[in-house]
Amino acid sequence: FDDRDGWIWLDGQFVPWREAKVHVLTHGLHYASSVFEGERMYGGEIFELTAHTERFFKSAEILDFKIPYTVAEIDEACKATCAKNGLTDCYLRPIAWRGSEMIGVSAQQTKIHVAIAVWDWPSYFDPEAKKKGIRLTWAKYNRPSPETAPVAAKAAGLYMICTISKHAAEKDGYSDAMMLDYRGYVAEATGANVFFVKDGAIHTPTPDCFLNGITRQTVIRLAKDRGLQVIERHIKPEELSDFTECFIVGTAAEVTPVAEVGQYRFTPGEISLSLMDEYARLVRRELVPA
Ligand code: PMP
Repeated sequence: FDDRDGWIWLDGQFVPWREAKVHVLTHGLHYASSVFEGERMYGGEIFELTAHTERFFKSAEILDFKIPYTVAEIDEACKATCAKNGLTDCYLRPIAWRGSEMIGVSAQQTKIHVAIAVWDWPSYFDPEAKKKGIRLTWAKYNRPSPETAPVAAKAAGLYMICTISKHAAEKDGYSDAMMLDYRGYVAEATGANVFFVKDGAIHTPTPDCFLNGITRQTVIRLAKDRGLQVIERHIKPEELSDFTECFIVGTAAEVTPVAEVGQYRFTPGEISLSLMDEYARLVRRELVPA
């Protein structure tokens, strides 16, 4: 992914894509002192830009570092990076990390670097699989408790268990893995939150040990605006047999219907498909929220 044309915003300057490099002794690489965002621009506008930038700053603060810019400056830099690359519909990846000035667990004196890369990424899952509903298996790892890890940060270190779980799922022919939490409740997919449907009501896990995603909050709002009941609660894996529909949501995944989670089967139905459509219209400003 490093050998392509384009411009990356790096510490306040645009650098050619191929030259946006870091040293091998970068603290973020050794000790995961790195936080990032995932955003999308639709038709020239970044959906929930400031909410993403604010989460970016919050994630850094949780990891005990300060991004050396203001929220407004990062918002502007995100827009400028899309413009510089001539993109109006793309994925954005802001990232901040501790540099290579010091190595060791303590790294107080490291410089905080920030980069923003943007690229065309139309669909996170195969569009054909998405229509039928994607297939998920159970993940090998559980989401850690808030006493074990900084679970509210979008921190690189928390993705280690996601990548391992997603690779294992893909090797077995699945699109993704469903993770349980440290108590054994259903938590989320490896990069997206999850929703279920039963008797016309929506059920979704309480986000007390994983990201309360911006897409998740948007979808809850859309569902409530339509008069649907949304129940946030702890969900046991065996309860999946009671649900008729399932879908996962995230900036990259958008709203993706799910056909299978382990031994449980779902049919993408009216609620999943209409929320998928409404989300697609909302992000393109074709739907005015109630
Ligand atoms: N959970 C995880 C682990 C994620 O990586 C993401 C994507 N950032 C989400 C949930 C959904 O978050 P959002 O809707 O803010 O993209």
